[in-house]
Amino acid sequence: MATRQSTTTTTYHSCSCGEQFETTEKLLEHAREAHGLSVF
Ligand SMILES: [Zn+2]
Repeated sequence: MATRQSTTTTTYHSCSCGEQFETTEKLLEHAREAHGLSVF
């Protein structure tokens, strides 16, 4: 398998509710306030 993900380097962290965040910190912050979770 020589398939590499060279197209997209920026990974967006998607919450289970559909929200997307650029960084993990924002995702975690949202998860805490919105869902009461610390880590997915
Ligand atoms: Zn969410």
